[in-house]
Amino acid sequence: MSGLADYAVCEANSRGRRHAEAPPAGRSEFQRDRDRIVHSTAFRRLEYKTQVFVNHEGDLFRTRLTHSIEVAQITRTVARALSINEDLAEAIALAHDLGHTPFGHAGQSALNACMRPYGGFEHNLQSLRTVEVLEEHYAQFDGLNLMHETREGILKHCSPANAAQLGALGQRFLQQTQPCLEAQLANLADEIAYNNHDVDDGLRSGLITLEQLREVAVFDAERGKVEASYPGLAGRRLIHETIRRMINLMVLDLIEQTRANIAEHGVKTLDDVHAAPQLVAYSAALHPRLRELKTFLREKLYHHYQVLRMTDKAKRVVSDLFSAFLADPRLLPPQYQARAKADTPRAIADYIAGMTDRYAMREHRRLFAVGEIH
Ligand code: MG
Repeated sequence: MSGLADYAVCEANSRGRRHAEAPPAGRSEFQRDRDRIVHSTAFRRLEYKTQVFVNHEGDLFRTRLTHSIEVAQITRTVARALSINEDLAEAIALAHDLGHTPFGHAGQSALNACMRPYGGFEHNLQSLRTVEVLEEHYAQFDGLNLMHETREGILKHCSPANAAQLGALGQRFLQQTQPCLEAQLANLADEIAYNNHDVDDGLRSGLITLEQLREVAVFDAERGKVEASYPGLAGRRLIHETIRRMINLMVLDLIEQTRANIAEHGVKTLDDVHAAPQLVAYSAALHPRLRELKTFLREKLYHHYQVLRMTDKAKRVVSDLFSAFLADPRLLPPQYQARAKADTPRAIADYIAGMTDRYAMREHRRLFAVGEIH
């Protein structure tokens, strides 16, 4: 790829793939990674996995699939503006949620609680496990055999105990160095995407209101600009015009501050990126305003009693499934029974983590609904 900054990841400075493969014809190695992710089974499952609202609650709410596409779009914009590797950044963005359980964070914390005696469950680590072990697509290897930097980007957090078992990929968590800029970027693009679309979905659901958002400065300021340009604008158009300005504000702030950080730390090469503090960042002025928005979303939306009822039920579904399979692994489908011979709790976690919301509910009915014995 031409026109990349010297601190960008490129094929020449990449640490490559675990299993050697002939270079792809007609596309770059990182395009190939992105394409493998899009063709994976785990990627298609994102369509029916929850972000905040359970999938069947409404057709217009974000799912993990549409969320991942929005993250990829923001990531590509910023990557291009910074002259870093757009294909790599896009691949990381599209893969970042592959390991998510059904029912969003509720499912993740329930599965983590079930797995606590057996090494725990972290969705970032599960995303990596999905692309390294669980996808069964290729003749020559398990997983997708992605480039080192794509895998590095997918693993955005990791406990020291798990990092110690991950070899080269775990090193940065133990040495506390930074991943490539493309990985740093995908992480913050994730945040920009969900902060904004959760406002949108929250309003659409009626669980939060435009009136409540008066107290959130970053929303209110952009709304003021919309109303000044279009007096009397209301409803969906007012909401969308405000949210698109918030996204733009955050993206432009991120680009400007990151450029300043790169210059300030004299970053010239990829090694400099690893040694520097985190470079992809918002300005000090935007930070408190984003914190305020996040606090608002947590208190008014994620902890709304109707959301909590849904997540409470979701946790029960996950832990019921886990207990039933652990009590009798013969209830698992055959391919997971084979995995369970090596490590039963991990095979169960893999099976549950791979479920979509509706599959998990169906499986729960099959196992527990006594009216449906057949
Ligand atoms: Mg995400």
